[in-house]
Amino acid sequence: MIEARGESVPAPAAAPTKTDRVIDRAKHHLLQNYKQQPVVLVKGQGARVWDAEGREYLDLIAGIATCCLGHCHPAVVEAAKQQLDTLWHVSNVFYSEPQIQLAERLTAAFGGADSRAFFCNSGAEANEALIKLARRWQHEVAGNRQRSEIITFEGGFHGRTLATVTATAQPKYQAGFEPLPAGFVYAPYGDLEAVRRLVGPQTAAILVEPIQGEGGVRPAPAGFLAGLRDLCDANNLLLLIDEVQTGIGRTGKIFAYQHDGVQPDAISLAKSLGNGLPIGAMVCSDAVGKALPSGTHGSTFGGNLVAAAAAIATWDLATSPQMLASTAEKGALLHELGAQLKGRKPGRVVDCRGKGLLFGVEVDTGAAEVVARCRQNGLLVNLAGEKTIRFAPAYVTSSHELTEGLTRFERSL
Ligand SMILES: *Cc1c(COP(=O)(O)O)cnc(C)c1O
Repeated sequence: MIEARGESVPAPAAAPTKTDRVIDRAKHHLLQNYKQQPVVLVKGQGARVWDAEGREYLDLIAGIATCCLGHCHPAVVEAAKQQLDTLWHVSNVFYSEPQIQLAERLTAAFGGADSRAFFCNSGAEANEALIKLARRWQHEVAGNRQRSEIITFEGGFHGRTLATVTATAQPKYQAGFEPLPAGFVYAPYGDLEAVRRLVGPQTAAILVEPIQGEGGVRPAPAGFLAGLRDLCDANNLLLLIDEVQTGIGRTGKIFAYQHDGVQPDAISLAKSLGNGLPIGAMVCSDAVGKALPSGTHGSTFGGNLVAAAAAIATWDLATSPQMLASTAEKGALLHELGAQLKGRKPGRVVDCRGKGLLFGVEVDTGAAEVVARCRQNGLLVNLAGEKTIRFAPAYVTSSHELTEGLTRFERSL
């Protein structure tokens, strides 16, 4: 029994398993900054992963919404392998084709020829780029030197660097890291009036997630993003949308803000972009992008060729009309199954939320224990917020696998 490791059940007296030995080494040598589930994963294919004991799991969290085409998708493997055999990295001192091909795709989806992409390696870095872009655009392009402040939202998540953790308006991520950088203020998510009250001559931009992912899978109320767009237009602010978790087709549209019919000034991407290889991006209109001319921002590894090649292959499959339709359909199935489950377990299941293949089930209590029991029942999911169990399955997960996943979930409640 490896699954009880590190949890309430005492360790068995039997000889240590492979899993025991790996976890023991991890506890001695890794910084203990993560709350890791006591399982060692060694192999993945599609929506399935296997642990060091040979046990198979249905993986409906898929690297926290990164492996959008599933583990080791053959087209992405092939693209990455080909690039590995050709050229790995040249830095941004030189031009390279994969970066440009990827930028062509991102900018076309964002808004035609008149936009630009910047590559980095993570979601936090993509959001750092948004923050720097907004300040510099106000200061240097719009001529508003006093406009430095960015409005973000309670319960949001934007990353772990000092600036992005400050943008992350949740005390548990900020505690102990003071002094935090100045220039961020927070509004309740979905409360347009509260945002309006915060806007002043010091405001530079609004940074928002279309669905709060880490905060518990909370979609923005209808009309909220459009209201923010109007507010930005009326006050010469930039609308920055964090699509790190929701982008690349996860909700059934390429970017989740497209459900709301708004056009942001700039967005951040990461998680699903490289199907699990580390790559992030900031995409913005050309007018705004002019704020970051030569020498003002950069990243040594940004746009790494292997990551970019994987991202191109991922993009072409994940954002195809067929895949978007399939993701929307499977999302609808997941939400239908969730609604049925809530009907059978009233009180226990408090709410089911999300859009497409980003789905959260809020339970009344013991969410962490539910996640542990899911794992014991061969289902991998994780916690988002205090009470919500998050599902972010790969788009290639079959309807049968989703149904099976929800059955295992119900058994774990
Ligand atoms: C995961 C996430 C981030 C941070 O991404 P990292 O790659 O961990 O830096 C930022 N914003 C949102 C919405 C996220 O879900």
